[in-house]
Amino acid sequence: MRTRISAALDDVVLQCDTRTRRHAFKDAPGAFNGLQLANGGRVTKIGAAVDAGVIPFQKAVAAGVDFLIVHHGMYWDMPRALTGAAYRRVATLVTGNCALYASHLPLDGHPEIGNNALLAKQLGSTRRRPFLVRDGEAVGCIADTRLSRASLRRKLEKLYPRVVAIECGSARPTSVAFCSGSGNSAVPELVSAGTDTLITGELREEWFNRAQEDKLNLYCCGHYATEVHAVQALAAELAEKFQLSWEFIATENPL
Ligand SMILES: [Zn+2]
Repeated sequence: MRTRISAALDDVVLQCDTRTRRHAFKDAPGAFNGLQLANGGRVTKIGAAVDAGVIPFQKAVAAGVDFLIVHHGMYWDMPRALTGAAYRRVATLVTGNCALYASHLPLDGHPEIGNNALLAKQLGSTRRRPFLVRDGEAVGCIADTRLSRASLRRKLEKLYPRVVAIECGSARPTSVAFCSGSGNSAVPELVSAGTDTLITGELREEWFNRAQEDKLNLYCCGHYATEVHAVQALAAELAEKFQLSWEFIATENPL
């Protein structure tokens, strides 16, 4: 029997830690970036998913994935008893010999494979400056744009299945801010950052009034939908480096 090509789990984890600059980011209190669950020590197939969850874990195991990268990991409020769904998540991974690697803010802010850099690239923006600097690291970015607001919106509506557009700002914005996932922390920083246009995942209801008051364009393209990019980019890079296959484990998360 031919043995499958595999890589050492430790090597794959080290590559993820280095490439994402895991230690540079503080992240939310209770969040934990890095290897959240080990497997037997070898990796033969890499998976990428946005969220930790019983269903994505079952899908990953069924697809033969034994190293799964997620953007939203299992731990946000440690310590947590491994009962109910939390137990089923871990049991699915352990039974399936699937390691779990989580990377949250490092995969939003990365200048090449981060969600925001890739969102900007989708719109043809390459020259970027930092936005939403937290503990010395930029989580978001701002890019110059030549797109009118109307063509920006058309592009987004082609790229994303559900776009909520609040258009109270300039019809010809000169720059666009990017904040994947939740953009609630980004809206109050737009004016001081010198831009009136934000592309994000989701926003709270109250920001509609702020958009009118501050004359902002706010585009919500889905929390999940704006955060599929970085896990895919990291998985593809790892697969290439270690000569393994990889697969995106999609879910039907409409939010
Ligand atoms: Zn998120």
